[in-house]
Amino acid sequence: MVENADRLIRQNRLLTEDLNRRTDHLAAIGTVAAAVSQSLDLNRTLHTALQAVLNTVGAEAGGISLIDEAAGEVVLRAQHGWVQDFVTKPMRIPLGEGMSGHVIANDTVIVENDFDHSEPLAVPSFHNEPFRSLAMAPMHARGKIVGILSIMSRSTNKFNAETIEVLRAVADTVGIALDNARLYEASVENETQLSAVLHSTADGIIATHQNGRIRLINQTAEYLLNVESEDMLDLPLREAPLPANIRDSLLFALSSRAEESNNIFRVSLEDERILSVVVSPIYVESQVDQDSVTDGWVIVLQDVTHLHQAEKARTQFIQAAAHDMRNPLGVTLNALDMLKNASAGQDPTAREIIDIAATGVSRIQSLIDDLLNLEHLESGYGFSLQRVDVYPLVEKVSAEISPRLVEKKLTYRVDLPPDIPDLHLDEDWIARALLNYLENACKYTQHGGEITLRLFMNDSLLHVEVIDNGPGIPVEAQSRLFERFYRATDDSTVEGTGLGLAIVKSVAEAHGGGVYIRSKPGQGSTFGLTLMITSDAAAV
Ligand code: ADP
Repeated sequence: MVENADRLIRQNRLLTEDLNRRTDHLAAIGTVAAAVSQSLDLNRTLHTALQAVLNTVGAEAGGISLIDEAAGEVVLRAQHGWVQDFVTKPMRIPLGEGMSGHVIANDTVIVENDFDHSEPLAVPSFHNEPFRSLAMAPMHARGKIVGILSIMSRSTNKFNAETIEVLRAVADTVGIALDNARLYEASVENETQLSAVLHSTADGIIATHQNGRIRLINQTAEYLLNVESEDMLDLPLREAPLPANIRDSLLFALSSRAEESNNIFRVSLEDERILSVVVSPIYVESQVDQDSVTDGWVIVLQDVTHLHQAEKARTQFIQAAAHDMRNPLGVTLNALDMLKNASAGQDPTAREIIDIAATGVSRIQSLIDDLLNLEHLESGYGFSLQRVDVYPLVEKVSAEISPRLVEKKLTYRVDLPPDIPDLHLDEDWIARALLNYLENACKYTQHGGEITLRLFMNDSLLHVEVIDNGPGIPVEAQSRLFERFYRATDDSTVEGTGLGLAIVKSVAEAHGGGVYIRSKPGQGSTFGLTLMITSDAAAV
């Protein structure tokens, strides 16, 4: 009986000791975890962690080394209780060498309880340290070894199995804390670099969330728009203190259905500066399916006032020259006509030569006419607004383009809402503009392609869009398309003057509206024109 009771008491004592030991281990891990989770600062975490570990295992000295994968080295980052300073000028051990190499290669803890400094070391000066016991444990994070946690003592036989067990357990806690701090530092560094790039670029940049709230505005954008970022951040674009015309155009661009492409337009500021604006969607990979989804927009602003002024100077020069050339050309055409009717006209070869000359002269004349048209539009000469029913206008334009459609076997669709009110327009100019868009769509779209003329109303604007499934236009060319003489095509067989779109733009602006383009190379183009629906348009 007594024997049994003694055995039970002994067993109970052993169990209690075991339990206490386990509890101590858990407490030790808890202490270290609490200490290292207080900061995301890597240096601070290194020192707090080392101190907490040394207190917990009762060692006088220790060190933490991290693996520098890029350099292929194990680098001592924190030490305590050593004679020499191996951190300021760090101890770097090539991966695979020395005791640390052994720990990493075998993913194991090594213990030396009678370190007599007889074996060769990767860093020979370590022999000057007075340690007689040492233990090194690998630290893991995200499934791999990220470094080594070491403890040392000047006495022999300092580290027993229990200390080693605790060391092994806390090593991973420290590893994870250091890895988090390292990741955090890397992300802060990335953010700082990105922010430096954003703030030093010469372009204005505004980024918005998916719902249009402003998430970032760089210094150039603040300067160009004369706003302060603190007045803009987190505000919906709709409420941002921006010039009304910019805000409206941006809102339209953001609400546009063509989320997949850039939206480019120009706006004038009150102080007569002109900004070119590019609005592009930002994509992120969807967590749910394979598709990418829009995460917001980035708006890039460039001051193009100098370009605009150069454009204006060029226009003035061309228009003056066009005036001077028009009269002599008229005289030449008359003279050719008279020559054809006179005796030289009896000779078929002479007639043919006269016809060739007359065709060339008329082509130059139509170029000059286009230039003068532009001048008229800009000066407002011969421009008269009338109340116009849009439906017959669309019919007339569609009938006029029909031979070109037939010639290239193009499918043509007209998509009209049923309730467009009468607008105040110069019918001839608007018809000219629509024909220019449609003629381009016919010209640049391949045989058998598709063209849609689509009208829709949005707030106080009527949008007229010509959509084709032709070759599309490179992004870098898009912002220049509406400039005079600008041609994006390198196909010299496609005839053109580069004035068609400039005329459309002038027509739209003369009506108080604007033009826009959405296009992706290889995926067709949408050319748009906006007209004001309100009767205020008459006053423009
Ligand atoms: P052009 O006389 O060259 O057609 P425009 O001013 O009408 O002059 O057009 C300018 C340029 O825009 C063209 O040279 C062409 O490169 C491009 N472009 C216009 N419309 C389209 C379209 N529907 N598809 C592809 N490119 C187009």
